[in-house]
Amino acid sequence: MSGKELYLRQMEIGPMANFVYLVGPAGSKEAVVVDPAWDVGAILNAAESDGRRIVGALVTHWHPDHTNGLDELVRRTDATVYIHRDDIPWLMEPVGNLKPVASGEELRLGDLTLTFLHTPGHTPGSQCFLARDRLLSGDTLFINACGRTDFPGGDPAQMYKSLSGTLARLDDRTVLFPGHNYADVPSTTLGDQKRDNPFLRCASLEGFLRMVGGPLGI
Ligand SMILES: [Zn+2]
Repeated sequence: MSGKELYLRQMEIGPMANFVYLVGPAGSKEAVVVDPAWDVGAILNAAESDGRRIVGALVTHWHPDHTNGLDELVRRTDATVYIHRDDIPWLMEPVGNLKPVASGEELRLGDLTLTFLHTPGHTPGSQCFLARDRLLSGDTLFINACGRTDFPGGDPAQMYKSLSGTLARLDDRTVLFPGHNYADVPSTTLGDQKRDNPFLRCASLEGFLRMVGGPLGI
């Protein structure tokens, strides 16, 4: 099944180099949007030009640069909003159609199954989405970096567990699509990151905490 094609469109939107994604099964007229923010009109136009209707919004985490389009998107499309339950209390504006999700839950879209992976650390309810061999990693895992853990609700020890426990376990051929365009390339493989990303390579919690300047930082 992993070789089966799917629809994935990556768009850089807004002043903070955010990546917004449209994802759906191949040959379908439906898509979900990951982290609708900054310019809902541009997101809806992109979906329409690809012949897709947005039926859901997937939230990697509550930070405004990933969620400031949610309310408008819901009002314009009536999409269901899938957000990890631990990030709901942090949302800065009320949003309708919220559906709290937990790790391991799945969303079926035609013949495509999206899996929710809880990866706390950047925020309490940060989550990544696995769509066949693609991983949409929000601000948990960046190319050659990871998300900051010093914002309210951040936790470097949880980030270490999310990276070394949850994400490092995924297949090397998984293609990583991060939440910001912070690197020289817009995507890469998890195998490359297991080799090159110092935060993913880190072999101990103590070493990781030193790297991110946590409680054991130097
Ligand atoms: Zn963030």
